[in-house]
Amino acid sequence: MASEHFDVLIIGAGLSGIGAAFHLQRRCAGLSYAILEARERIGGTWDLFRYPGVRSDSDMYTLGYAFKPWRDAQAIADGPSILRYIEETARENAILERIRFASRVRRASWSSQHARWTLDVAPANGGEAIQLTCNFLFACSGYYSYEEGYTPEFPGVEHYSGRIVHPQHWSDDVRYAGKELLVIGSGATAVTLVPELAKSASHVTMLQRSPTYVVARPGQDRIANWLRGHLPLKLAYWLTRWKQVLLGMFFYNLCRRRPERAKQLLLKGVRMWLGTEFDVDTHFTPRYKPWDQRLCLVPDGDLFKALNSGRASVVTDEIECFTARGVKLASGREIVADLIVTATGLNLQVLGGVQLLVDGQVVDPARTINYKGLMYSEIPNLAAAFGYTNASWTLKCDLSCEFVCRLLNHMKKRGYAYCTPRRGAQAIEEEAFVDFTSGYFQRSLHKFPKQGRKTPWRLHQNYVRDIALLRWGRLEDGVLEFSMPGTP
Ligand SMILES: Cc1cc2nc3c(=O)[nH]c(=O)nc-3n(C[C@H](O)[C@H](O)[C@H](O)COP(=O)(O)OP(=O)(O)OC[C@H]3O[C@@H](n4cnc5c(N)ncnc54)[C@H](O)[C@@H]3O)c2cc1C
Repeated sequence: MASEHFDVLIIGAGLSGIGAAFHLQRRCAGLSYAILEARERIGGTWDLFRYPGVRSDSDMYTLGYAFKPWRDAQAIADGPSILRYIEETARENAILERIRFASRVRRASWSSQHARWTLDVAPANGGEAIQLTCNFLFACSGYYSYEEGYTPEFPGVEHYSGRIVHPQHWSDDVRYAGKELLVIGSGATAVTLVPELAKSASHVTMLQRSPTYVVARPGQDRIANWLRGHLPLKLAYWLTRWKQVLLGMFFYNLCRRRPERAKQLLLKGVRMWLGTEFDVDTHFTPRYKPWDQRLCLVPDGDLFKALNSGRASVVTDEIECFTARGVKLASGREIVADLIVTATGLNLQVLGGVQLLVDGQVVDPARTINYKGLMYSEIPNLAAAFGYTNASWTLKCDLSCEFVCRLLNHMKKRGYAYCTPRRGAQAIEEEAFVDFTSGYFQRSLHKFPKQGRKTPWRLHQNYVRDIALLRWGRLEDGVLEFSMPGTP
């Protein structure tokens, strides 16, 4: 039986996949496409994570799409609001009907002879796979595994008599009101959970091995709200978005160029919230430089307020082992808890775990180099949406979608069947995909493509440079090789 064919197949119906569909519809009229989504639901991250207080840690003026203004007064939004925003985008633009749910892409095989991808697509729970084909594959599959969150191997965990829950697997039956809670971790998830759980728990202890930079920001952006009240919605959104982009870039550059100055500024902020009695050196002064890892944002200082109220506390120590009642620390202290939350991170994954083949050969993405931060060397007609590590994810994804649309239109106009970033004969100095020192990146970097030191192999992590590169940069740059149909 002939398999169904599309011009483009998008993998994933999260924030990026829905954005990609919008751009394709708007910029590549008449092109056929579908979205293949492994789960039964839209929204990706914003549907999967259900722990109390789940929220963004970037402002929604940059985490939102360029084409759809964020209208809520909250700049730092809760998970359900972000999910509604994604659903609304899909509904308003008739994207919902293009999503094929319960369709996990397991394998994608490229044939140069036929200039097309063949995808093996199966229901997430197993079941029989079907095949779909497409000319161009756009992976909007996020960056981590949905199967299981990351939990280190804690010695003696089997002795613990209470419940242990990972935030990625939070469910409605997790009861925490009136209980002694222990949250293990110091990242974005831990600092989100602690103040929220502290509202009804007896007490919450945040246990961290080492501190993270934590910065308090207003949950609402007064300038943005004023602009929205006085200017046309789209103009107000555009101005706020650029304000946020430029402020973010300014602070990132300050951190890179004058790390000591940036560190003092960040610590001064923490001290203002916690007062002089609090041991900021131990609990909030990281060993690394600001932006060597993602900063943790706490809206309206909610974490600090929880600590000041006494309903939450922070302990910086190492876990020696779990006990029947809680955990025993390297210092000898035991923390007793009714419920332990392991906010210990994600398992990162490339291309949604899809196995790639090019002309019959299995390709390991880790052996490729990233082209302009969205295509992979020697892999034809494939792009992947991967956001910034130092700014909102969607800023980069919007630009990546624009680039893909330009590419598709260019190929159509010139009659090309496919395009492939070629490494060429010149040696490319390879570097790790990102220069973050965060544990979850370091654990998984070996799975990711490399980047080069120079454009177009460099991941600039810079929105303004990427506008020049992706929105206006030459497509026929001598690196991207275009091929006519039937070219072997
Ligand atoms: C709790 C949390 C908070 C975050 N907050 C922020 C923030 O404030 N700012 C920010 O910039 N970033 C944040 N991030 C990163 C966040 O994941 C991105 O911003 C964004 O939501 C990613 O969207 P996405 O569509 O690319 O990926 P996802 O949201 O992960 O969606 C990917 C989709 O692809 C599907 N999929 C994956 N593999 C396959 C396959 N093989 N076949 C079919 N379907 C597949 C998945 O089921 C999923 O629906 C946060 C992440 C988490 C976990």
